[in-house]
Amino acid sequence: MFERQDGALAVGGVPLDRLAARVGGTPFFAYDRRLVTERVAEVRKALPADISLKYAVKANPMPALLAHMSALVDGFDVASAREMRHALDTTVPPHRMSFAGPGKTDAELSAAVASGVTVELESARELARIRRAGEELGIRPRVALRVNPPFAAHGSGMRMGGGPQQFGVDAERVPELLRDMGDLDFQGFHVFAGSQNLRADRVCETQRLTVELLLDLAESAPGPVRYLNLGGGFGIPYFGRDRPLDLARVGENLETLLAERLRPRLPQARVHIELGRYLVGEAGVYVTRVVDRKESRGTTYLVVDGGMHHQLAASGNLGQFIRRNYPVTTARPDDPAVGTATVVGCLCTPLDLLGDAVELPHADVGDLIVVYQAGAYGLTASPTAFLGHPAPAEVLV
Ligand SMILES: *Cc1c(COP(=O)(O)O)cnc(C)c1O
Repeated sequence: MFERQDGALAVGGVPLDRLAARVGGTPFFAYDRRLVTERVAEVRKALPADISLKYAVKANPMPALLAHMSALVDGFDVASAREMRHALDTTVPPHRMSFAGPGKTDAELSAAVASGVTVELESARELARIRRAGEELGIRPRVALRVNPPFAAHGSGMRMGGGPQQFGVDAERVPELLRDMGDLDFQGFHVFAGSQNLRADRVCETQRLTVELLLDLAESAPGPVRYLNLGGGFGIPYFGRDRPLDLARVGENLETLLAERLRPRLPQARVHIELGRYLVGEAGVYVTRVVDRKESRGTTYLVVDGGMHHQLAASGNLGQFIRRNYPVTTARPDDPAVGTATVVGCLCTPLDLLGDAVELPHADVGDLIVVYQAGAYGLTASPTAFLGHPAPAEVLV
C-alpha cells in the first residue's frame, strides 16, 4: 500500500505533486522501492526456504529496478538479448539467469552461451542451433528443456500450456529429445503453464501436475537433474471483484510437494519459481495530468496528457475480452468522491480510455490522475510510438 502524506499519495515517501516537479513533468511511471522489497520478503516468507525465487524481467525491465531486484531475488529470467544485457549489468551471476522464449535468433543463442546463461530450449531445432553456437564458441551450452505440459493452468488470465503451443517441447516428445542431449550441459526442466492466476487452488493443482510430469521426465534425463523451474503465474488484483492470491496456501502446497515428492526423488535439483507481475505490478503507478475537463451530453470527461500509448493495459487493449477499469484515482485518493468522470487519454482514438465512469474525488485541469497496478506490463508493453507523443519518464523512488 502506498504511503499517504497529509492525504496525498506518496511514492517512496515523495508526494506525487512534488515527484512530478522532480521528474520535470507528466506523464511518468513511479515505482516504490519499499513496496518491491516488502513484496519479495512476503513471497520468501511464504515459500519454502530452499526455493529459488527468480524475477521475470519482461514484467518490468527498467535497469534501476533490476539493480534493486538483484539484491533481493536469486536470479533473473530473461526473454530477449536486450533483457539479458540489462540483467548481466547487475550483480546477479549469469549462471543464475535463464533465457526463455520462442524464436531466439542465432545471435541471441550465441550471446547466451558466451554469457553462461541457462538457455531454456523451446524446440528440437533450437537444440540443434545452440549445439552449433556452442561448437563455434568452444563452450558447452548450459541448457534446460522447456516442456509444453499436457495440461493448462486453469484460472489463468493467460494460458501457456496444454494443447498445441509455440512454447516448449510437447511433453510426449521430450524423452526422445533427451537422448540426444548428452553432449550439452543439461540442467533440467522448465514449465510455465499460465499467467495472472488469482486462485490458490488452481495454482496448487498446476504445481502438483507440473511436479508429477517432471518426475516422470527426469527418468529420461541424460544426467542428474539440477534445475526444476516450475514457472509461477501468481496474479494480482486488477479489477473491483478480484481477490488477492492466497500466498500462504501456495507456499504450504509447495512445501508438501518438495518434502513428499521432489526431495526424495531428485535430491540434487534446485526448485525455482519465476514471478513477474506479482513482485512489481502493485508497486507502480502511472501519473498523468488533466489537460481538459469537458461535459458531453451528460458525461464528464477528464482528458489527460498520457494514455494507452504508455499504459496500454489500463485501456483494456492488452488481452482483455471485456473492458474493465483498472483502479484510477487522483493524487488525493482518500478525499471523498464528488461524482463520476470518464478519464481519457490524449490520443485521437476512442480506444484511448483509461477509466470509464469512475467515482473520483474532485479533479480539474492541472490536477494529477493516477492509475494503479502500473508496475508490470506498463511502459514496455505499450505502443509508445502511436501518435508520436514523447515517451514518459520512469522513476524508482
Ligand atoms: C511472462 C513470463 C513470466 C512472468 O509472468 P508474470 O505473469 O508476470 O508473473 C514468467 N515466465 C515466463 C516463461 C514468461 O514468459
